[in-house]
Amino acid sequence: MSLIVMKFGGTSVGDIERIKSAASKVAAEITRGNKVAVVVSAMAGVTDQLIGYCRAISPRYDRGEHDAVVATGEQVTAGLMALALHQRGLNARSWQAWQARLITDKTHAKARIVDMQADAVRRHIENGEVAVMAGFQGVTADERITTLGRGGSDTSAVALAVALKADRCDIYTDVDGVYTTDPRIVAKAHKMGRVSYEEMLELASLGAKVLQVRSVEMAMRYRMPVQVLSTFANDIGSDLPGTLVTEGDENMESNLVTGIAYTKDQARITLLHVPDHPGVVAAIFGPLAKAGVDIDMIVQSGSGDGKSADTTLTVGKDEADRAMKILEEERAKIGYEDLVCNMNVTKISLVGAGMRSHAGVAAKMFEVLAEKGINILVIETSEINISVLISSEYTELALRALHSAYGLDAA
Ligand code: ADP
Ligand code: ASP
Ligand code: MG
Repeated sequence: MSLIVMKFGGTSVGDIERIKSAASKVAAEITRGNKVAVVVSAMAGVTDQLIGYCRAISPRYDRGEHDAVVATGEQVTAGLMALALHQRGLNARSWQAWQARLITDKTHAKARIVDMQADAVRRHIENGEVAVMAGFQGVTADERITTLGRGGSDTSAVALAVALKADRCDIYTDVDGVYTTDPRIVAKAHKMGRVSYEEMLELASLGAKVLQVRSVEMAMRYRMPVQVLSTFANDIGSDLPGTLVTEGDENMESNLVTGIAYTKDQARITLLHVPDHPGVVAAIFGPLAKAGVDIDMIVQSGSGDGKSADTTLTVGKDEADRAMKILEEERAKIGYEDLVCNMNVTKISLVGAGMRSHAGVAAKMFEVLAEKGINILVIETSEINISVLISSEYTELALRALHSAYGLDAA
């Protein structure tokens, strides 16, 4: 007998019929002789609506109260799922994060899990009950409700699986696995049977939202096997159930480019004609760091005469206004001539563990984009990824061209 955590995302619990159908998947797993804990997201669209309510009261809302509001979406589905399981004759109860003791730090809206004491949940499961935990939420040591950041139910599921020492964490979603790139944009994307934790972490952190980054980090740290599969298509127990996220092996390592991720969540800020002398870069990034603005890409290029340079950086779109305000306030100290912000940018990233040992991946990427007439705004490389920033209107064209060029198209 195995203990399996089954997580259902927003679309999978998007209406009552879908909740009933997810409950039937749970029942099937139990019929197969397994014990199950379920984690649910809010019904599709509900989290956005709740965030909208907070913003409508004030754009500068209190993040603690924001979490109190936004965490309710998952409370509703946890209860509904328990009811749907009762309808199937199963013993089940809902667990809010505070009841399941999923403890986080105090960083409201993107809290980190610091501890989970799942003893009570485990006792109930051992007594034959299905535990249905509300995803996305947590509680601080001083009993305030928190949320784990968008897509955070994936992380709740892995945390519960780790705390319960489950055999596997199954992530049920609206695609039947992890693809070489977003299958909604590139029709020729193909499903990977397996992907290493390392590559999945890179894909997720570069925008493949099929799994939240922190869920992959946690799965990797505790070696928890994660399986991504469809709520709508897969039969439990089928030979090709979805994608298994697991340890890398030699076979997987040979991939040059495993997948391509993209994100439209960034904004590009450029400081034009910054004086080119020591201390200027510190004058730009110091105040931003002090305000807790996360910077992603950075590029600085001199004008050639040694007198001035242009500095470009990217930040999350939701932080762009704040970053601009800080840089405007620092204008006299930094001494730039002009400051421009562009929200219409997309970061495209090639990911592959094989890049470590192969030269020429970047050169080919630049060639492919040049052939399509796509201008590269910023370039960034790391050990197993290469990212470029381009104008958003070319996103689909670039993804499709790169997907073909690296031999990833489905046969
Ligand atoms: P859920 O609500 O179930 O958590 P999400 O919308 O968060 O689902 O994540 C699933 C979506 O992730 C898919 O519908 C797909 O558009 C997107 N996605 C992006 N990159 C990939 C990828 N490489 N493989 C699969 N899906 C991807
Ligand atoms: N409901 C939350 C969101 O929409 C968490 C999740 O679905 O994972 O981001
Ligand atoms: Mg998700």
